Amino acid sequence: MNFYVQVNITTHLCRVMPPPNHRNSLFYLYHYCLHLSKIASAINSPIEELIMTVLSTSDLADYYSLRVDLHSHTKCSDGTLTPQELVERAVNFQLNVLAITDHDTVKGLSIAKDYIVEKNHPLKLVNGIELSTSWQGFEIHIVGLNIDVNNNELQTLINSQQQARELRATTMGEKLTKCGFPGIYQQAKDLAGEGSITRAHFAKILLQEGHVDHMQKAFDKYIGKGQRAFVKPTWCSIEEAVAAIHHAGGNAVIAHPVRYDLSTKWLRRLVVQFKAAQGDGLEIVLPQMGNEQRKLMLSFCLEYDLHASMGSDFHYPSRWSDLGRNLRMPDKVKPIWDLWH
Ligand code: AMP
Ligand code: MN
Ligand code: MN
Ligand code: MN
Repeated sequence: MNFYVQVNITTHLCRVMPPPNHRNSLFYLYHYCLHLSKIASAINSPIEELIMTVLSTSDLADYYSLRVDLHSHTKCSDGTLTPQELVERAVNFQLNVLAITDHDTVKGLSIAKDYIVEKNHPLKLVNGIELSTSWQGFEIHIVGLNIDVNNNELQTLINSQQQARELRATTMGEKLTKCGFPGIYQQAKDLAGEGSITRAHFAKILLQEGHVDHMQKAFDKYIGKGQRAFVKPTWCSIEEAVAAIHHAGGNAVIAHPVRYDLSTKWLRRLVVQFKAAQGDGLEIVLPQMGNEQRKLMLSFCLEYDLHASMGSDFHYPSRWSDLGRNLRMPDKVKPIWDLWH
């Protein structure tokens, strides 16, 4: 009942264009609505969709920010939608700006670009990539944004990353065969098709065949770090990833820094080394972040003079996270797109 009251109030207010001196109160209202939508989602209430619809169609949302999502995946790596389907979803969600950032490949970008032109969709596509790197025994993902996909240095790095993926996949297949799952390499390879083969493809096969009851379990039991079928990857270094992105005229940001299970001390080390490697920014706005995490990321951006990026890391439609959802750039930081003018 309470939710209905809030939504009605919100609907009413959202139709009013805010005068400049009301920016703050309306700003809080906007975030209050986002907060409500999360509660609604947590208790599985259908009202969540309604709140999100109100937010996405309101003048308020338009007024405060373009709807931007700078991290998403397609079938060209481990996403479930084709580039065309992803673009359709972004347009339906009224996004203004979308970066496609598939793992170690740029294959989806020209497909998406051609489709946007063909349909005359009002969506700005940012050319992106998510490069896997090895750092101190961790796999750190570096997102490149606004890149020239034809750049030679970037193409060379993509080729070696693809070889590393292929090699790891075959070795993982052998290890999984010993775990009692023969033929899994070919199944994962078929699922990946022309796209980058990832551990997510192996996890999906293990799930489909009933060997695990959740994708996460495949990582926990077999292919995650330290598990029986884990294969140590041979990714490029952070320095190499940043350099290739810069050669391609783009900007490098650390993807989802809060998702590596690093202590604050190690996170700081990562940020310091990334900054020394000329990295440009941190992805500090993701869906489902805690308040403490937000504060810490914000403080790293300010302390190390890094730009801020935001993205959903969309792989497939789900209740918990979707394209462009719950993303808003904090006022205090410099958004990464300031570098693109
Ligand atoms: P890869 O890049 O081949 O190591 O594949 C990793 C991908 O698997 C990530 O980009 C995620 O989309 C997905 N994934 C799902 N759960 C996990 C997990 N527990 N650890 C690592 N990756 C995961
Ligand atoms: Mn992925
Ligand atoms: Mn990632
Ligand atoms: Mn990603």
